Amino acid sequence: MSGEDPSLKLERRARSTGTKVQLWKNFDGARWVTLCEDHGGLVEHDTRRLAEGWLSHPEDWCPTCQEKRDEKSGVT
Ligand SMILES: [Zn+2]
Repeated sequence: MSGEDPSLKLERRARSTGTKVQLWKNFDGARWVTLCEDHGGLVEHDTRRLAEGWLSHPEDWCPTCQEKRDEKSGVT
């Protein structure tokens, strides 16, 4: 336990999916977490740099965004 409270560092709308995405620090025991607010999909990252790199394309880490992308592109 770090003892630090979770803090929201960034929030934006992902252009590729139209969903709201957030970057959290100290979220649920993880140092850095990206969260798809629309679907609740989240993934942990070791550094802020990595997390920010993933933030703008939730279709690569949010299961629901992934499904929607695959539906759209016809991948089954
Ligand atoms: Zn999503």
